[in-house]
Amino acid sequence: MTITAIRGFNDILPGESALWRHIEDEAVKVFSACGFSEIRVPVADRTELFLRSIGETTDIVEKEMYTFTDRHGDSLTLRPEGTAPVVRAYVEHKLYTSPVTKLFYAGPMFRYERPQKGRYRQFYQIGAEVLGDESPRADAETIGMLVELFRRLDVSGITLHINSLGCAECRPGYKSRLKIFLQGVKERLCENCQRRMDANPLRALDCKSPKCIEATENAPRITEHLCQPCNVHFERVKHGLAGLNIAPNINPRMVRGLDYYSKTTFEITAEESLGSQNAIAAGGRYDGLVSDLGGPATPCFGFAIGMERLAIVIKDKGFQERPLAAFIALGAAAEKKGIELLKLWRGAGLRITEDFSEAPLKKRMKRVDQIGASFAVILGEDEIKEGVVSLKDLKTAEQEKVKWENVVQRVFKVK
Ligand code: ATP
Ligand code: MG
Repeated sequence: MTITAIRGFNDILPGESALWRHIEDEAVKVFSACGFSEIRVPVADRTELFLRSIGETTDIVEKEMYTFTDRHGDSLTLRPEGTAPVVRAYVEHKLYTSPVTKLFYAGPMFRYERPQKGRYRQFYQIGAEVLGDESPRADAETIGMLVELFRRLDVSGITLHINSLGCAECRPGYKSRLKIFLQGVKERLCENCQRRMDANPLRALDCKSPKCIEATENAPRITEHLCQPCNVHFERVKHGLAGLNIAPNINPRMVRGLDYYSKTTFEITAEESLGSQNAIAAGGRYDGLVSDLGGPATPCFGFAIGMERLAIVIKDKGFQERPLAAFIALGAAAEKKGIELLKLWRGAGLRITEDFSEAPLKKRMKRVDQIGASFAVILGEDEIKEGVVSLKDLKTAEQEKVKWENVVQRVFKVK
């Protein structure tokens, strides 16, 4: 019997992984150009970290965490998201001694959700966090950086949704109003929302159940209950976005699934390819989290991109991996010359593999076609004498002689 992968845990195979590499490379370029540095945090942390940061009455903590006890009896959790571990590391290593710290990360996250298109149990995120900046310009510019990444990746048809969740000053007042409203529609809410209505009324606005969406349609809007500083902050974020030519859609219902957010929250959706799992990135401000986790009061802003969903969107538009060539040496002299030529071509950026089989040429051509090469680069005794290779385009079956120094250029031309 063969052994298959765990449900909701995916292999990313060649072809797909080339697109992932491309996304990650572009993200690193864009983020580091904006002054972000990479942080690598472990895939597991103490369970308590996630309880205290994400919040005990969120879906993630209540139903989705991979929590287990290790052999020593400690409770560990596979990270369901990246912000909490990054903030834990920020506090632990006292990175706050710098006035502003800009970090990015990439890697797998784990949530026990129902697997479906765009939703998996192990999924990858690329995220960025600005720690120590209270300016609304940090919110706008960080969203702008993300939009710039999507532009460079040719992702079109996206919508930015933003909201403000207020702060420790104004949110409690809003929460009590919302609670009173929810009391009035209690019977129409799903069981889960009824249960956590008192402890965490905001969750009812994030609930995906159609019942709850309908029942909360006329719920009081947080944007109408913000205190003056939160209002000003929100206006400045919108102003900053306008300055970047980004037109957001204001969505006062968008409260996000994690409790640590304050002030700005946002989501970017790509409707076309994804259906209901359409959010490709999300984030917001979390001014209270660093101090909640034992550090000094530090205003922060961050986001995470969902890799699988972004890859679906980009693949739908057609992504071409760099072409692969295959070298076929005919005879010992060609094999020897090949050592030098392959070094030259690879150094110049060509992807070229070598066929080692001793079968007749026709068979070897078939083999390299089957491994996915776009070109066969053939070197025999005649070619050595002339300083050329016979280059066959395996798609069109056209063959021509190309000088050694022109091989790379010729292959790239067809891309
Ligand atoms: P969703 O709207 O799918 O419930 P979320 O609000 O739980 O997402 P966040 O925790 O903010 O998402 O994570 C940011 C991004 O990570 C999401 O916008 C999405 O692209 C991606 N993501 C979240 N959960 C999953 C998952 N189970 N599988 C694949 N991608 C996911
Ligand atoms: Mg979710």
